[in-house]
Amino acid sequence: MCGIIGCVGRGAETLDTLVHGLSKLEYRGYDSAGVAMAGDGIALCKTAGEIDELRGALADRSLAGSVGIGHTRWSTHGPPTDGNAHPHQDCHGDVAVVHNGIIENYQRLRDELVGAGHTFTSDTDTEVVPHLIEDALEAGHDPEAAVREAVSRLEGSYAIAAVVAGTEAVFAARNDSPLVLGIDDGATYLASDVPAFRDFTDRVVYLADGEFARLDGDGWTVTDHSGDRVEKTVDTVDWDPEETGKSGYDHFMLKEIHEQPRALRQCLRGRVDEMAGSVDIDDLGDLSPTGVQFVACGTSYHAAMYGAHLFRDAGIPAQAFLASEYATATPPIGDALVVGVTQSGETADTLSALRAARKRGARTMVVTNTVGSTAARECDHALYIRAGPEIGVAASKTFSSQLAALNLLALGTTSTTDTREIIAALRDLPGDLQRVLDESAAEAVAETYVDSDAYFFIGRGYQYPVALEGALKMKEITYKHAEGFASGELKHGPLALVTEKTPVFAVVTGDGEQARKTVGNVKEVEARDAPVVAVTDGRSDVERYADHVLEIPETHQRTAAVLANAHLQMVSYHVANKLGRNIDKPRNLAKSVTVE
Ligand code: GLU
Repeated sequence: MCGIIGCVGRGAETLDTLVHGLSKLEYRGYDSAGVAMAGDGIALCKTAGEIDELRGALADRSLAGSVGIGHTRWSTHGPPTDGNAHPHQDCHGDVAVVHNGIIENYQRLRDELVGAGHTFTSDTDTEVVPHLIEDALEAGHDPEAAVREAVSRLEGSYAIAAVVAGTEAVFAARNDSPLVLGIDDGATYLASDVPAFRDFTDRVVYLADGEFARLDGDGWTVTDHSGDRVEKTVDTVDWDPEETGKSGYDHFMLKEIHEQPRALRQCLRGRVDEMAGSVDIDDLGDLSPTGVQFVACGTSYHAAMYGAHLFRDAGIPAQAFLASEYATATPPIGDALVVGVTQSGETADTLSALRAARKRGARTMVVTNTVGSTAARECDHALYIRAGPEIGVAASKTFSSQLAALNLLALGTTSTTDTREIIAALRDLPGDLQRVLDESAAEAVAETYVDSDAYFFIGRGYQYPVALEGALKMKEITYKHAEGFASGELKHGPLALVTEKTPVFAVVTGDGEQARKTVGNVKEVEARDAPVVAVTDGRSDVERYADHVLEIPETHQRTAAVLANAHLQMVSYHVANKLGRNIDKPRNLAKSVTVE
């Protein structure tokens, strides 16, 4: 999420270098931007909106200073306003800080700092950092030690860059958010990703979690938490500057598929207490829904179906509606909670369904990726999935993060007997997903069936929305005919379409009655000579009837859905790639559908 840039040694070109770097990080998505330069004091300029807004704000100003930092923000705490844009400062304006990530213990730190007399001017979690640095400077630490001291108080994920008035240096630290140095003769850079400085140098040093960096007129040093020097290797990147936004992946979609373990960690971060076996989500208050109506479109609708299943499992009546249909004849709502699921928070059909529900007096909530979006502003509650910006038009990581967030919502507002088991499965999910991505045989499957004219996907229970999503992904990026069905429904009509030329992807997890029934459905298609690709944890005997197996680790049925879906994403991706499709921008499609 977001982008950081820092630079030392560019003299009069420092400001231009920072703004250029920010524009190169544009692909990461952002809602505000800002820069700070340090000389005798700190000069700062920041604004909500695109980089052009920042350029406009800078046009009639010249910021004095010889070193600087910059930021493109993708809000997680507080809406995208000028005041919430980074850099953030201490009480005296002597420190400026940019941050990428989420500081989990910020509320505690903020309360403590306010109690000690500090004045805060933003809603962000980030602002605790300059105030902590201020305290450490006042306690007599030099700037580098002060940054180290402040960072030692932080829990959560962060890439941080800071400048201090009167010190010609940029200080940085990272934990679980990317940060890389760019090394050139006479100049040193710091950024969230290489494209920010790739036009100036191809020599890079990747910082690891727990490391600190200092960039100054003498070059750069990397140290650990206690200040001891860490020897680092300087790597050379051979990426084309134009391609670097994809971090070496051929497409944003593939990059985003691979970002899923990290996105899931961000979604779960600080919201699950494994010891207590409980879930705690900010801002949701005491929601104890007696019924839930989900409204959503496309991929988000599949997440909504999954969400409805979660609530029904907890004994709460719940239903998922296609948002465009909901508004045509709004169903009786009673005192149900109406939950919109929309990645952008701007999906016109979903907004209109939520508005129809509000008009009838319903409490509304949005599950979204976008802080400050229209849906987030209009609904009574917002649950952020924290997947980070998604550039590929076809949703990938945002779907898995929606599923994870919906689990949190269900666990946080209902009671189920297997809460601890589900929490443990969610804890293991990022690692399990990494294994699936590392070991998936999806490319070989794609190679085998790239020439098929139609693909079918079946699943039952939690795996039914996965079957629908698998088919949607295939349609969106390969332009091939694909359909998803509830396993049990196949024999009620669609079976007529099944031939030896139509591969059937069957998602079969667990070993209970539902799995046995789905294996029965698999036998029905096998009997029609259709090739079968089983996506399975190996607990049923579906492999016996399958031509190919895409394995997932054993886990809870709910988390199995996320793992199975990752295989299907990869199959669609590889089929589309072999067909030479425009994967990141499929024909006729747009990322945020703002018309009804
Ligand atoms: N949590 C910080 C904020 O909301 C940083 C978000 C980011 O990574 O851009 O301002």
